[in-house]
Amino acid sequence: MTFTLAIVGRPNVGKSTLFNRLVGKRLALVDDQPGVTRDLREGDARLMDMRFTVIDTAGLEEVTDDSLQGRMRRLTERAVDMADVCLFLIDGRVGVTPTDKVFADILRRKRAQVILGVNKAEGKAGEAGALEAWELGLGEPLRISAEHGEGMEDIYHVLRPIAEQF
Ligand code: GDP
Ligand code: MG
Repeated sequence: MTFTLAIVGRPNVGKSTLFNRLVGKRLALVDDQPGVTRDLREGDARLMDMRFTVIDTAGLEEVTDDSLQGRMRRLTERAVDMADVCLFLIDGRVGVTPTDKVFADILRRKRAQVILGVNKAEGKAGEAGALEAWELGLGEPLRISAEHGEGMEDIYHVLRPIAEQF
Protein backbone atom coordinates (compact mmCIF):
# COMPACT_ATOMS: atom_id res chain seq x y z
CA MET A 1 0.00 0.00 0.00
CA THR A 2 1.54 3.21 -1.10
CA PHE A 3 0.70 6.49 -2.75
CA THR A 4 2.29 8.95 -5.12
CA LEU A 5 3.03 12.58 -4.28
CA ALA A 6 3.81 15.08 -7.03
CA ILE A 7 5.78 18.19 -6.11
CA VAL A 8 4.57 20.97 -8.38
CA GLY A 9 5.14 24.70 -8.70
CA ARG A 10 6.97 27.25 -10.81
CA PRO A 11 10.74 27.08 -11.32
CA ASN A 12 13.06 27.91 -8.42
CA VAL A 13 10.62 27.47 -5.52
CA GLY A 14 12.61 24.49 -4.18
CA LYS A 15 10.87 21.43 -5.64
CA SER A 16 14.07 19.50 -6.33
CA THR A 17 15.51 20.42 -2.94
CA LEU A 18 12.44 18.93 -1.27
CA PHE A 19 12.52 15.90 -3.58
CA ASN A 20 16.14 15.27 -2.61
CA ARG A 21 15.31 15.58 1.06
CA LEU A 22 12.43 13.12 0.81
CA VAL A 23 14.35 10.65 -1.32
CA GLY A 24 17.52 11.04 0.66
CA LYS A 25 19.75 10.68 -2.37
CA ARG A 26 20.77 13.33 -4.78
CA LEU A 27 18.73 12.00 -7.68
CA ALA A 28 17.42 15.34 -8.83
CA LEU A 29 19.76 18.13 -9.75
CA VAL A 30 19.44 21.32 -7.78
CA ASP A 31 20.86 24.44 -9.25
CA ASP A 32 20.46 28.18 -9.29
CA GLN A 33 21.02 28.13 -13.02
CA PRO A 34 18.14 27.59 -15.38
CA GLY A 35 18.17 24.60 -17.69
CA VAL A 36 19.56 22.00 -15.35
CA THR A 37 16.75 19.58 -14.60
CA ARG A 38 14.37 18.03 -17.10
CA ASP A 39 10.91 16.54 -17.19
CA LEU A 40 9.60 14.30 -14.45
CA ARG A 41 11.73 12.47 -11.94
CA GLU A 42 10.51 9.71 -9.67
CA GLY A 43 11.97 8.52 -6.39
CA ASP A 44 11.17 6.41 -3.32
CA ALA A 45 10.45 8.83 -0.51
CA ARG A 46 10.55 8.37 3.22
CA LEU A 47 9.07 10.70 5.79
CA MET A 48 9.30 9.25 9.29
CA ASP A 49 7.35 5.95 9.12
CA MET A 50 5.72 6.78 5.79
CA ARG A 51 7.00 5.50 2.46
CA PHE A 52 5.69 6.72 -0.85
CA THR A 53 6.61 7.59 -4.42
CA VAL A 54 7.52 11.19 -5.10
CA ILE A 55 7.59 12.96 -8.46
CA ASP A 56 9.65 16.07 -9.10
CA THR A 57 8.35 18.21 -11.93
CA ALA A 58 11.54 19.48 -13.44
CA GLY A 59 12.08 20.60 -16.99
CA LEU A 60 10.40 23.96 -16.65
CA GLU A 61 13.60 25.74 -15.84
CA GLU A 62 14.74 26.69 -19.29
CA VAL A 63 11.44 27.73 -20.79
CA THR A 64 10.95 31.29 -21.90
CA ASP A 65 7.93 33.35 -20.93
CA ASP A 66 6.43 32.63 -24.35
CA SER A 67 6.51 28.87 -23.99
CA LEU A 68 6.18 28.70 -20.23
CA GLN A 69 2.44 28.34 -20.01
CA GLY A 70 1.91 25.46 -22.43
CA ARG A 71 4.91 23.44 -21.40
CA MET A 72 4.34 24.05 -17.73
CA ARG A 73 0.72 23.08 -18.01
CA ARG A 74 1.44 19.85 -19.88
CA LEU A 75 4.16 18.75 -17.50
CA THR A 76 2.20 19.66 -14.40
CA GLU A 77 -0.92 17.96 -15.69
CA ARG A 78 1.06 14.80 -16.41
CA ALA A 79 2.44 14.81 -12.87
CA VAL A 80 -0.98 15.46 -11.38
CA ASP A 81 -2.46 12.58 -13.38
CA MET A 82 0.23 10.24 -12.06
CA ALA A 83 -0.19 11.38 -8.47
CA ASP A 84 -2.65 10.73 -5.67
CA VAL A 85 -1.81 13.99 -3.97
CA CYS A 86 0.10 17.13 -4.97
CA LEU A 87 2.42 19.25 -2.90
CA PHE A 88 2.20 22.69 -4.44
CA LEU A 89 5.18 24.83 -3.49
CA ILE A 90 5.54 28.58 -3.56
CA ASP A 91 8.50 30.70 -2.47
CA GLY A 92 7.61 32.28 0.87
CA ARG A 93 10.21 35.00 0.44
CA VAL A 94 8.73 36.13 -2.86
CA GLY A 95 5.06 35.65 -2.01
CA VAL A 96 2.32 34.72 -4.46
CA THR A 97 3.20 35.49 -8.09
CA PRO A 98 0.97 35.49 -11.18
CA THR A 99 2.66 32.25 -12.26
CA ASP A 100 1.79 30.66 -8.92
CA LYS A 101 -1.83 31.54 -9.64
CA VAL A 102 -1.63 29.76 -13.00
CA PHE A 103 -0.45 26.63 -11.16
CA ALA A 104 -3.21 26.97 -8.58
CA ASP A 105 -5.75 27.12 -11.40
CA ILE A 106 -4.32 23.99 -13.04
CA LEU A 107 -4.60 22.11 -9.75
CA ARG A 108 -8.12 23.36 -9.16
CA ARG A 109 -9.25 22.44 -12.65
CA LYS A 110 -7.74 18.96 -12.21
CA ARG A 111 -9.52 18.65 -8.84
CA ALA A 112 -6.23 17.46 -7.41
CA GLN A 113 -5.85 16.81 -3.72
CA VAL A 114 -3.44 19.60 -2.78
CA ILE A 115 -1.12 20.39 0.07
CA LEU A 116 0.14 23.96 -0.11
CA GLY A 117 3.76 24.42 0.98
CA VAL A 118 5.34 27.84 1.53
CA ASN A 119 9.04 27.12 1.11
CA LYS A 120 12.21 29.00 2.06
CA ALA A 121 10.44 29.80 5.34
CA GLU A 122 13.25 28.86 7.71
CA GLY A 123 13.31 30.85 10.91
CA LYS A 124 10.89 33.72 10.61
CA ALA A 125 11.18 33.99 6.84
CA GLY A 126 8.08 33.52 4.78
CA GLU A 127 5.55 34.64 7.38
CA ALA A 128 4.08 37.29 5.08
CA GLY A 129 4.25 34.88 2.15
CA ALA A 130 2.29 32.30 4.12
CA LEU A 131 -0.44 34.80 4.95
CA GLU A 132 -0.62 35.84 1.31
CA ALA A 133 -0.84 32.18 0.25
CA TRP A 134 -4.35 31.88 1.73
CA GLU A 135 -5.55 33.84 -1.30
CA LEU A 136 -4.73 30.85 -3.53
CA GLY A 137 -7.78 29.14 -2.06
CA LEU A 138 -6.01 25.82 -1.61
CA GLY A 139 -6.32 25.49 2.14
CA GLU A 140 -3.87 26.10 4.93
CA PRO A 141 -0.39 27.11 3.77
CA LEU A 142 2.32 25.09 5.53
CA ARG A 143 5.54 26.99 6.14
CA ILE A 144 8.48 24.75 5.36
CA SER A 145 12.16 24.88 4.56
CA ALA A 146 13.18 22.17 2.12
CA GLU A 147 16.80 23.18 2.50
CA HIS A 148 16.87 23.15 6.30
CA GLY A 149 14.31 20.42 6.88
CA GLU A 150 11.85 22.60 8.75
CA GLY A 151 8.13 21.88 8.65
CA MET A 152 8.59 18.25 7.63
CA GLU A 153 6.42 17.11 10.55
CA ASP A 154 3.60 19.38 9.34
CA ILE A 155 3.76 17.74 5.92
CA TYR A 156 3.77 14.37 7.68
CA HIS A 157 0.65 15.18 9.69
CA VAL A 158 -1.25 16.31 6.61
CA LEU A 159 -0.07 13.34 4.52
CA ARG A 160 -0.72 10.72 7.19
CA PRO A 161 -4.54 10.54 6.81
CA ILE A 162 -4.15 10.68 3.03
CA ALA A 163 -1.70 7.77 3.16
CA GLU A 164 -4.28 5.76 5.04
CA GLN A 165 -6.61 5.88 2.02
CA PHE A 166 -4.12 3.73 0.10
P1 GDP B 1 13.08 24.04 -8.28
O1 GDP B 1 13.40 24.78 -9.53
O2 GDP B 1 11.68 24.34 -7.83
O3 GDP B 1 13.36 22.57 -8.37
O4 GDP B 1 14.03 24.66 -7.14
P2 GDP B 1 15.42 24.09 -6.56
O5 GDP B 1 15.18 22.96 -5.62
O6 GDP B 1 16.36 23.87 -7.69
O7 GDP B 1 15.89 25.33 -5.67
C1 GDP B 1 16.07 26.62 -6.24
C2 GDP B 1 16.93 27.45 -5.33
O8 GDP B 1 16.26 27.68 -4.08
C3 GDP B 1 18.28 26.78 -4.98
O9 GDP B 1 19.25 27.78 -4.92
C4 GDP B 1 18.01 26.21 -3.59
O10 GDP B 1 19.18 26.09 -2.84
C5 GDP B 1 17.08 27.24 -3.00
N1 GDP B 1 16.21 26.68 -1.94
C6 GDP B 1 15.48 25.55 -1.99
N2 GDP B 1 14.84 25.33 -0.82
C7 GDP B 1 15.18 26.35 0.00
C8 GDP B 1 14.84 26.68 1.37
O11 GDP B 1 14.12 25.99 2.07
N3 GDP B 1 15.36 27.85 1.84
C9 GDP B 1 16.17 28.66 1.10
N4 GDP B 1 16.63 29.77 1.67
N5 GDP B 1 16.52 28.36 -0.17
C10 GDP B 1 16.03 27.23 -0.71
MG1 MG C 1 14.04 21.44 -9.99
